[in-house]
Amino acid sequence: MSRDFDIAVVGGGIVGLATAYRLLQAHPDLRLVLVEKEERFGAHQTSHNSGVIHSGLYYKPGSAKARTCVGGGELMKQFCREQGIRFEICGKIVVATEEREIPALEELHRRGTANGVPDLAVIGPERIREIEPHATTGLRALHVPHAGIIAYAEVAVKLGELIAKAGGELRLGTRLLGIRETQGGLVLETTKGVVHAKNLVSCAGLHSDRVARMEGGDPGAKIIPFRGEYYDLVPERCSLVKGLIYPVPDARFPFLGVHFTRTVHGGVEAGPNAVLAFRREGYKKHQISLRDLAEVLTYPGFWKLAAKFWRTGFDEMVRSFSKRAFVAALQKLVPDLREADVEPAGSGVRAQALARSGAMVDDFLIVERPRALHVCNAPSPAATASLAIGGEILRIAEEKFDLGVRARV
Ligand SMILES: Cc1cc2nc3c(=O)[nH]c(=O)nc-3n(C[C@H](O)[C@H](O)[C@H](O)COP(=O)(O)OP(=O)(O)OC[C@H]3O[C@@H](n4cnc5c(N)ncnc54)[C@H](O)[C@@H]3O)c2cc1C
Repeated sequence: MSRDFDIAVVGGGIVGLATAYRLLQAHPDLRLVLVEKEERFGAHQTSHNSGVIHSGLYYKPGSAKARTCVGGGELMKQFCREQGIRFEICGKIVVATEEREIPALEELHRRGTANGVPDLAVIGPERIREIEPHATTGLRALHVPHAGIIAYAEVAVKLGELIAKAGGELRLGTRLLGIRETQGGLVLETTKGVVHAKNLVSCAGLHSDRVARMEGGDPGAKIIPFRGEYYDLVPERCSLVKGLIYPVPDARFPFLGVHFTRTVHGGVEAGPNAVLAFRREGYKKHQISLRDLAEVLTYPGFWKLAAKFWRTGFDEMVRSFSKRAFVAALQKLVPDLREADVEPAGSGVRAQALARSGAMVDDFLIVERPRALHVCNAPSPAATASLAIGGEILRIAEEKFDLGVRARV
């Protein structure tokens, strides 16, 4: 038997879960259903990332990323304190190892300050070595003392529990297949029957553009999957890294460059690189989907991007196939690192929206439709910012969908 819902949320990653949680917190009487195709929450980007609570350095002042990362990071820490989820404020340094990187480092300092990131400091070689004794090549660095680490998969599980407790209906193992509009709302066809809902919020990560099109929306961009591969430091060499050590990123890309990340599990990860994945959920090099690959190769935006950045793409591929090249990139930050100190670990696939013009969509993108909101670009720092993104979606939904009526009766 089908039940009518006020809102259906598609996607049980951290963004969909945080959105459902914020909606139910503000509107306890809301009839909400969340559908997730996997048998557990947070199975994709949410559990395949660096686990960093970002501070808000990198993003253009005034952008949604800047706005939600700074506030969202604090919300995330507060949520974890209240719910007993482990996280650690270990601090981070962004290290310039060449003179030519210093202007970009200074720009990060300016951006971070404009975005309200507290206690940032540009530091010299001596202080760098006090914080990270093995980052011996650093000429100058930006110290970000409040950056932290967390396991976002644990946050996703807790959000699922809280949504269920608040009366939300959670349907795992339920894939959305199609959407029809009726007079009173939307009919969602899923692998486990139909769901009737007045409105929809889609947070479908690597499939977000497809869900938007299914509903008649046009995100003006396509999701291109970029795999990020990691190495783990062997336990005896984890002492090389105390917290988070990042390079100065190439400002033309939304990716941050291979870095060292201490994890809440006690290890140290190195990575991720950024290579085209031949499948949207292609965590391994050999995993290929002809449909996914054909969509990329027939998309004009991809060829425009490739023509402009073929050299960077080539270097990333080399790092993907050659451990030596990967380690060489890491040695720029920590020269004591040896090839024998790292072993291949997992990977994650980023859902990066690419415009037809060949430009990577830099900011978060929410496509508004009469009955639906589609989150069509939520790459890093969307895990950090998830509770704040959920708050922004709540505000838009309140304006568009009149959720208040039920809450007021
Ligand atoms: C390598 C890597 C490193 C990163 N590092 C960080 C970091 O350190 N800090 C940070 O803040 N962010 C980081 N990010 C980004 C962060 O992980 C993502 O921004 C965030 O997880 C996005 O969450 P999401 O809910 O939008 O997507 P996802 O977690 O991918 O969730 C989307 C969900 O939608 C479901 N779905 C899709 N289609 C359907 C359908 N048709 N029917 C039903 N369900 C569907 C999927 O199964 C999936 O569970 C990183 C990402 C990657 C890949």
